[in-house]
Amino acid sequence: MNDLLGKLRGIVGAGNVLADGDLSAWEVDWRKRWRGKALAVVRPGSTEEVAAVVRACVAAGATIVPQGGNTGLVGGSVPDKTGTQVVLSLSRMNKVRALDAANLTMTVEAGCVLQSLQEAAAQAGFLFPLSLAAEGSCTIGGNLSTNAGGTQVLRYGNARELCLGLEVVTAQGEVWDGLSGLRKDNTGYDLRDLFIGSEGTLGIVTAATMKLQPLPAATLTAWAAVPSLDEAVKLLGLAQKQLGAALTGFEVMGQFALSLVAKHFTQMRVPLYESTPYCVLLENSDSESDAHARSRFEALLELAMEEGHVTDAVVAENLAQAHQLWHIRESIPMAQAEEGLNIKHDIALPVSRIPEYCTLTDAALAREIPGVRLVNFGHLGDGNLHYNVQAPVGGDPAAFLDEYEERVNTIVYDNVQRFAGSISAEHGVGSLKVEKLPKYKSPVALAMMRAVKQALDPEGTLNPGRVVQAPENVRV
Ligand code: FAD
Repeated sequence: MNDLLGKLRGIVGAGNVLADGDLSAWEVDWRKRWRGKALAVVRPGSTEEVAAVVRACVAAGATIVPQGGNTGLVGGSVPDKTGTQVVLSLSRMNKVRALDAANLTMTVEAGCVLQSLQEAAAQAGFLFPLSLAAEGSCTIGGNLSTNAGGTQVLRYGNARELCLGLEVVTAQGEVWDGLSGLRKDNTGYDLRDLFIGSEGTLGIVTAATMKLQPLPAATLTAWAAVPSLDEAVKLLGLAQKQLGAALTGFEVMGQFALSLVAKHFTQMRVPLYESTPYCVLLENSDSESDAHARSRFEALLELAMEEGHVTDAVVAENLAQAHQLWHIRESIPMAQAEEGLNIKHDIALPVSRIPEYCTLTDAALAREIPGVRLVNFGHLGDGNLHYNVQAPVGGDPAAFLDEYEERVNTIVYDNVQRFAGSISAEHGVGSLKVEKLPKYKSPVALAMMRAVKQALDPEGTLNPGRVVQAPENVRV
């Protein structure tokens, strides 16, 4: 392996091969649930260097864990404990290569931080609509590799829908240039879509061509108290009918989730939550004038109150207030982390079935764990809930996890299956759910996934043991 380190230094320069000292920033995941040990962290500066690193690792029999911002929530971006894996960090590949205003596209390197792409697009007068709470740290390569969702999927789709082309380094160290920027290309299998969402198990994304949108003329944000999840779903239907494509965000937040924000971030003023089981954050982005959009938005809220879907509401007066409301929503994961370790779920369900799912699952969990606290929030407009389970007050979170994690997961996921949902809506499979897939995914689908892995990465070089459990002949 010393020989490999020497080769890697020769490819990327000694300063970009980190093998000693504190490597915890790359070895420990965001939730601090997975702590690995890397042989080295390697930081290539170009696609050619990535390809050469992969070839050197293949020749030495070392496996590779691609890493972007290391904000993933399923333990897929950190090495295992063997001390033999190479973490390939894309962080130095952070340039915008081109912006084609007429084609409404931007071609960017994989290590670009999401927020910097939003800013680059805005500077050129466009919107890049992918947005999530980790946007100050996560990278577009990680977003594509996890097919990230976020807060505007309702209108613009997830990372997959925003991507027109990829550049990928294969498991053999070859470069596939698929940065076409075409909206139509039916020349066979869609290779781009194979790599998107593959969590670093099929290839290393080095660049992408992403779609841009016109900047909306007016963006309005409202915070509404709703009496139940049932009424929240009815409000969603009404908002879709009244606002059409202008409805760009629809987030739901349970009272306990908001109480954690109020408790741990005392500088934030959380509106309306104390007297209602759920609040909803609605966003309307429009090409119409601010005044016209505002009157339509306010008319929607008035109608929703008349029909009993909403009991109280506030509309942000300006952009700063809108940011404050979004900041509350985006602070829930941090507030939850402050409260202590918890059992996270990122589930998708048909929107129509969410109220019934929650009624049944809330009750089942309360029977299983007296005093259990449910942190329920998420992208209701996409049928995606972060249905998280926190220990009862005063309980030791670590002991709670040891005792209850598997039982809680079984209750939550068995009901997801019963309601025709998915056990991973947007975070992916990683290490966290790899052993769960055989129970919750069809054997036919799993066999096809393993066949794809075998075809593209027969040696099991890329992120082994994540997403698919390897067949016999693939090293794990
Ligand atoms: P990493 O964490 O570094 O990696 C994630 C996976 O992708 C790993 O399997 C890794 O091996 C692989 N990978 C990374 N880069 C590459 C590459 N260039 N080529 C091949 N494989 C690669 N996710 C959502 O979808 N929606 C949300 O709303 C959301 N909110 C979040 C809020 C918070 C506070 C946090 C901490 C996370 C949130 N996430 C959310 C999860 C996370 O931010 C996303 O999964 C994000 O897309 C990961 O990007 P990253 O660059 O950090 O990737």
